[in-house]
Amino acid sequence: MQTYEIPEARFDWFTKEIAKLNKKAVKLDCTPITINEIGTVIRKNDKGIIYKYVKVKVAGQAPKYNGWSFIATVQYLKDQTIIRTVPGEIVPEVFRKKGPECDHCKRIRHRRDTYIVRHANGEHKQVGRTCLKDFLGHTDPGVLATWAKILTGMADLAEEANLLPGGNEEWAYFSLRDYLAQVSAVIRIVGWTNRTKAIATGAQATADIAHQIMQPAQIDYIRKLAMEAIVSEEDIQLAIVAIEWAKELEDSNDYLHNIKTIAQAGMLNRRLLGYAASIIPSYVKQEEERQKGSKYVGTFRKRGEFTIYIDKIILREGQFGMTYIHKLHDSDGNRIVWFGSKSLRKEVDVAEAIQVKATVKEHSAYEGIDQTVLTRVKEVN
Ligand SMILES: [Zn+2]
Repeated sequence: MQTYEIPEARFDWFTKEIAKLNKKAVKLDCTPITINEIGTVIRKNDKGIIYKYVKVKVAGQAPKYNGWSFIATVQYLKDQTIIRTVPGEIVPEVFRKKGPECDHCKRIRHRRDTYIVRHANGEHKQVGRTCLKDFLGHTDPGVLATWAKILTGMADLAEEANLLPGGNEEWAYFSLRDYLAQVSAVIRIVGWTNRTKAIATGAQATADIAHQIMQPAQIDYIRKLAMEAIVSEEDIQLAIVAIEWAKELEDSNDYLHNIKTIAQAGMLNRRLLGYAASIIPSYVKQEEERQKGSKYVGTFRKRGEFTIYIDKIILREGQFGMTYIHKLHDSDGNRIVWFGSKSLRKEVDVAEAIQVKATVKEHSAYEGIDQTVLTRVKEVN
C-alpha cells in the first residue's frame, strides 16, 4: 500500500491510466490495482497559485510463488540505476550500486533491467529476466516482466500527474526546442496545417497536434500519430536552426516580432502554440528561397579556402563505416556538402563561421539546387 497525492486537475487522467493498466492486468491473469481516495490536500506554489490534490492509497498485488514475491525492477542507465518499486515495498540500498548480475545463475550480462524478489524470510535477490520464472512460478517471463512494469509504473504515473499540476493551463511553460522538434516530426508525417486552414476544413492545426502529442492524456487520433511522428535527430537539428534564424529576424511586422520574441525566450505556453509552430514552415520557406539562388563555389578539382556555416550534420551508417554528411553553406547562401569520415563539430552552432581548406570534388544539382561537393576538408585557424 502506498499513498500518493494527485493534482485534482489530473485525477481523471490518473484513474483512466490505472484503468488501462488494469485491463492489461486482467489479460495477464493478475490482481488489478486498487485506488482508494482518502482525502484532499490544498497547496500553494511560489507564484501564489492554489492547487487541490487528491490523496489516494494505491495497492497492487505482486506475483508470489514459493514464499518469493516480486518487489522491484532495476533499470541501468549508464553507470546508474533507476529503481521502480511495487507500491509499499522497500528495496535495500545495496541494489542501487549493484551491477546487472543475476544472483541466481551468477551470470553478468548486458541487461537493460533486472528484477528484485524478496522471500518471506526477508532475503532479497536480484535476478535476470529468464531466471525470474524460477522465483515466481513457471509462467512466461514476458508476462511477469510486463506485470512488473505495470506495478512499478504506478510511481511513474503519480509523478507524471504532478509534472503538469494544473493540467493544460495557459501559464504552463515548456521548451521551444522540444516543441519545434515535435512540430517538425508532425509535418514530416501529415504536412503543415495552419490555424486558419484548420478552421476552414475542420482538420486539426499542426500547432495543436504537436502540443497534444506532448501531453500525457491523448485522444485516439493523436495517440496513433504519436507513434509515427517520433522526433528524430533531424527534427531536433531543424528546431535548433529555425530558432537561431528566428532570434535574428528583423521585426518589421508583428508576426516577425512575435516569433522573434518566442525564439529569444526559448520557451512558450499554450497561448503561443500557433506562432511558435509556424517558426518551422517559415524557416523552411525562407531557406528554400535562399537556396534557389545557390551557385557553385570554387574550381572543379582545385583546392581552395572556404568560409562555411554548418546547417546540420547527418550521421549515416554504411558498409564502410560511419559517414558524417555535413550540410553547409557559405556567406552568400551557396549550398555546400561534405561527406566526411569524422564530424567537424560535435555540436552544431549554425552561427559559427568556419574557415576550411578543401578540394572541390563535384559541382552538381541536388533537389534542383546547385551545390558544391567538397572533399579533404581541413579546418584552418
Ligand atoms: Zn539468472
